[in-house]
Amino acid sequence: MLRSRVGRRVFLLFVACALVPLVVMAALSLSQVRDLLIDQGNTRIASIAKGYALAVYERMLTARDAALLIASQPENATSIPPSIDNQYLFLGRFDERGHVASIKGAPPAEVAKLVAEYRGMASPPATWVRSTEGEKLFLLAADPADTARGLLVAELNPAYVWGDADELKAGMIICVVDSTHLQYVYCRNGRELGLPGLLSSAGPNQEPGNVTWSKEGVMYRGKVWAQFMKNDFGAKDWYYAVSVPEDDLLALVHAFRRSFGLVVALSLLLIIWFSVRQIRAMLTPLGDLTAGTRRIAENDFSTRVNVNSDDEFGELGEAFDSMSVRLGRQFHISRAHADIDRMILGREDLERITEATLRHLRLLVPALQIHGFLLDRADPLSGRRVSLRAVDGETANTLRVESIQIPESARPDLAGIVPARRVDSGTPPDWASADEPAGTDGQWVQPLVWGRVVCGWLWIISPGDETIGEEDCRTISDLAGRLALAISSAWREDELYQQAHFDPLTGLPNRLLFSDRLQREIARGKRESRLSAVLFIDLDHFKAVNDSQGHGAGDFLLCEAARRITATIRDSDTVSRHGGDEFTVLLADIREHRDALRAGEAIIAALSAPFTVAGQACFLSATVGIAIHPDNGSSAEELLKNADTAMYRAKVAGRGQSLFFEEKMNAETVARLAIDRELRQALERGELELYFQPQVSLASYQVVAAEALLRWNHPQRGLLGPGEFIAVAEESGLISQIGRWVIEEACRQIVGWRGEGLVLERLSVNVSARQFRDADFVEHIFRHVVSTGLASSIEFEITETAMLERMDLLMDKLKAIADAGCSIALDDFGTGYSSLAYLKKLTVHVVKIDRAFIEDIDKSTESLAFVEAIIAMAHALGKTVIAEGVENEEQVRLLQERRCDIVQGYRFSKPLARAEFLAFAKAHVRG
Ligand code: C2E
Ligand code: MG
Ligand code: MG
Repeated sequence: MLRSRVGRRVFLLFVACALVPLVVMAALSLSQVRDLLIDQGNTRIASIAKGYALAVYERMLTARDAALLIASQPENATSIPPSIDNQYLFLGRFDERGHVASIKGAPPAEVAKLVAEYRGMASPPATWVRSTEGEKLFLLAADPADTARGLLVAELNPAYVWGDADELKAGMIICVVDSTHLQYVYCRNGRELGLPGLLSSAGPNQEPGNVTWSKEGVMYRGKVWAQFMKNDFGAKDWYYAVSVPEDDLLALVHAFRRSFGLVVALSLLLIIWFSVRQIRAMLTPLGDLTAGTRRIAENDFSTRVNVNSDDEFGELGEAFDSMSVRLGRQFHISRAHADIDRMILGREDLERITEATLRHLRLLVPALQIHGFLLDRADPLSGRRVSLRAVDGETANTLRVESIQIPESARPDLAGIVPARRVDSGTPPDWASADEPAGTDGQWVQPLVWGRVVCGWLWIISPGDETIGEEDCRTISDLAGRLALAISSAWREDELYQQAHFDPLTGLPNRLLFSDRLQREIARGKRESRLSAVLFIDLDHFKAVNDSQGHGAGDFLLCEAARRITATIRDSDTVSRHGGDEFTVLLADIREHRDALRAGEAIIAALSAPFTVAGQACFLSATVGIAIHPDNGSSAEELLKNADTAMYRAKVAGRGQSLFFEEKMNAETVARLAIDRELRQALERGELELYFQPQVSLASYQVVAAEALLRWNHPQRGLLGPGEFIAVAEESGLISQIGRWVIEEACRQIVGWRGEGLVLERLSVNVSARQFRDADFVEHIFRHVVSTGLASSIEFEITETAMLERMDLLMDKLKAIADAGCSIALDDFGTGYSSLAYLKKLTVHVVKIDRAFIEDIDKSTESLAFVEAIIAMAHALGKTVIAEGVENEEQVRLLQERRCDIVQGYRFSKPLARAEFLAFAKAHVRG
């Protein structure tokens, strides 16, 4: 108790408050009592002194009178009656001559001197008392019998005069001093005190009054009484000094002191007992409260202080307990917040965050079960349910996580619910599965809303006897807000990840994710020394479909192509959309190079099957380039670049095939870049030139027309054919410029030949698909061909690939050109994938059968049948048929038999330079 500072203080206060007045009072009364006692003592001593003095005086008078009486009867004057005998030591008469007549005893030595002294006095008193040294007392008076100078002298018996000492208290000092001679007349006990000196210092006429002295350490107090002697005994006052030890006077004070000490000790004990009780009554709850506060500081909110008193401390304890309950709850809520926030920031799994939220809620609100419904971002009717159930209503829980599908009809209407709301008890909502307990328990629903989007809800089942109060509802919606934040951030992260790593159209991984996986595979391949392959896939003819059928169709095709590619490969492989109509495939862990080739072929086969777009069959194919890790590169970039190069090479070599990357292809790429650069200059420097190949009518064997074919007089490499540079020009877009030059040059030739007398029915020029995309293509033709009146002399050759580009656009442009009078030829007929139906739809006047079919008509009956069918069909549609690449007479004969209209080929002439052609044509044109 006294370890507590407050305890000490209160204790001291108590002691001080009670003890100080007690002690002060005691001291006061003690001094008063002491004064009183001393006063009383003094009075008593004074009366003793006075009484004693009077008694002595009385006895001296008696002794005088008796002596005078004896002396006055001379007959009796020789003896003393025995009754008064004890009064005198000596009694006798002195006559004038100095004779002594003794009545009793012998005269003492000093008598003569005293007699002389008496007689020497001027007016001697009737009776004179004289004390001498040795405390002898003499009485002198005129002899009554002999008045002529006879004297009566008596020496008084001290025993008689001073009386029985026993009648005075033992220890009391009584001394009598003769003030005439300042000497003791009588002294009992206190001779050594030197009373005569004391009296002389007090002055001759002064009463000494009170006297105090000490002897052997004992204090004495006394009183001096002056006894008047003059009248009866003719002497100065006698001083009677009576004194007693102070302790005798203060015996009462000592007794009082003793009992007072006892009282003080008792009251001190009482005070201690009382104050201890009080302090304990104060300190115990105070200590409990302090301990409680300390516990709160240490985050222990569970213990109660339980102050059991009916005073303010009790009230304080109650308030403290309820405060600690509230604080505990508040603390728990903030800890739950911090917990959930930490998990959100730490990007923990959403299910784990939900579990943590539910666990916190279970402790904060009375709930038997809490279910968290987390909806999927993409599909709000499916998601997961995290359920926390109390085991036997206690704090132990079971946790279950399951995927759920919510029927559209059972979707809870959560609009407008902000804090948790009670839902109809007894009828579990449809989205609760059948095993949920129905009945008396209250059910509460709390939507999880973020940014006005419902991303889930909480379903809380409370026990029947406890209900969820308003504060609980606030807690629920508070934590629900956090959970909603977690879901929304998971959603957003998912969305961002999707956006960053997946192609929004096809849902395939994008470049980024692909190269990430490729890098991992490369690292793994290095570790486990295994092979993997990168396939670079380019859809052939996709642009044509996209342009002709619209982007919707294009998108559909891309999705379908993605699906087909994905279907051909293993789950462990990755397909990604690289961009546009390009896809890449990562074949992880292949056994041999051929596996990659087989996969490439399978993909091509899958993509070659017809696609149905808006009810129409549509044909695509694909070209695949393959790069193998580790043979063709050690980094993702390198492998992708090389696969791309391989794909490009495959495309050049003939679409619809797979090719491995070879090292020399890199060199080819470099060369292609050089061609592109040089070709631009070639146009400016006039290095391009048109060659002409005659077309011979089988009906007349005359040159009726010619095809203009482009040549490049390369300063270093000599004359180059279009196969060497047209593809590059198409790729770079330079073909538009070149194409325009070709048309203009062809027109110039026609005009030139006419000037020289050569008039052909037609001169055909080749037009790349790419040229049709130029906005001013038709306009250019009108300006240079139509407006110069050459429309009917020009024929435009388009290949089937051109038809795959935007069909509608192409149709319009062809029609415009045809309407202007130009002729249209379908070049390389039979090699593409275009439907024969196009022949009917498009404005085409001439069909040019590809050299590939003509090549072996003299050897293969199938080819012949094919050519025959084309001729028949084209004729049926009213089109002219030209056979290309006719090299021998047999082919001419067969074609003639099959009623082919015109032939073109080395059988008649190779493409010729302008002058040579002019000479050749003039020789073979019917004048
Ligand atoms: P094409 O339009 O099918 O031209 C016919 C090609 O077959 C020419 O090759 C020609 O020399 C060749 N040829 C003709 N008769 C025979 C034969 O009996 N035997 C063999 N083996 N070949 C024969 P060339 O000149 O190398 O042209 C190749 C392709 O280049 C042309 O095919 C055409 O598509 C394209 N081309 C040529 N000039 C131009 C042009 O000015 N513009 C555009 N866009 N393309 C052009
Ligand atoms: Mg041609
Ligand atoms: Mg051709």
